[in-house]
Amino acid sequence: MTETRTASPFPATVDYEEDGKQFGHVLLPHSRDDSAWGTLMLPVVTVKNGEGPTILFTGGNHGDEYEGQVALLKLARALQPAEISGRVIIVPALNLPAALDHSRVSPIDGGNMNRAFPGDPGGTMTYKIASYVQSELIPRADVVVDIHSGGKSMNLVPCAVMHALEDAGLMDRTMAAVKDFGAPLGLVLVELDAAGMLDTAVEEAGRIFISTELGGGGMLTPETVAIAERGVRNMLVHFGLLAGEIERPEWTSRIMETPDQGAYVLARDDGLYEPFVDLGDEIEAGQAIGQMHFVADPQREPEVHHAGSGGLVICRRVPGPTRRGDNLIVVAQDYRG
Ligand code: CA
Repeated sequence: MTETRTASPFPATVDYEEDGKQFGHVLLPHSRDDSAWGTLMLPVVTVKNGEGPTILFTGGNHGDEYEGQVALLKLARALQPAEISGRVIIVPALNLPAALDHSRVSPIDGGNMNRAFPGDPGGTMTYKIASYVQSELIPRADVVVDIHSGGKSMNLVPCAVMHALEDAGLMDRTMAAVKDFGAPLGLVLVELDAAGMLDTAVEEAGRIFISTELGGGGMLTPETVAIAERGVRNMLVHFGLLAGEIERPEWTSRIMETPDQGAYVLARDDGLYEPFVDLGDEIEAGQAIGQMHFVADPQREPEVHHAGSGGLVICRRVPGPTRRGDNLIVVAQDYRG
């Protein structure tokens, strides 16, 4: 593929053009009180064999989302160059400081990696990392698969995720990959806040972008890890890097969408959230989905919250304590295309 890019000022200890398997690091200056000329060493793994497409896998975009980190650590160790045609670039923990801190955002600068694109090489650490991905990895990739989960504050029905795209051809190719990922749901997502996302950066570069939401609640489950591992392998097969068959789960992905803001229910006040509905429930528009209790004010009646639209509850808030504006549930409907 033709590569037009501005080189990053940050070196890597891997050569992306070299055949074989390399474990290395992107070296990002991290000058701080306890290490004047210190460096953040961001792990990157390349597996390349001759000509073929390039697929970039990223995990740990948010540090408290674990399926991608585990599935990609396993892939990085297991995948051998002789098995593939093309190039696989793996960044198991994109926001490494956040991953090491088990937090969504970076403890260094508070940076949310998925709001930091296209990044800034002169910015703080999260923006430095994003700028490296923007200038060195996205231009090399035909396909980017960014593996998210719900993190500590949300839990989701495992799904492969894409956006509604203006380019019909790109939309069809992305949808085909979403179906082959093999998650219980395929979700055509409307973002509340698309600016600064890796998704947007990749889509603007005309590359295929697939994301996931594979569970959450600050934990891994055998089921969600298995879905991540199978999905990663299926993407290698789907895009022609790995020979073999797509591994079909016992289900066919149900393709759903969140067409508008009505899919989200936001808390109207701080309180203790009592859910009436749970993940996987089918609900009606206007149905009471939960209520907020006010523990310092026993006389005050709980405040009941209602669904804006009906459908399947695909996401719920995990912690009981809740603040105004926190997302309580997301409701999806069958995709109408
Ligand atoms: Ca996420």
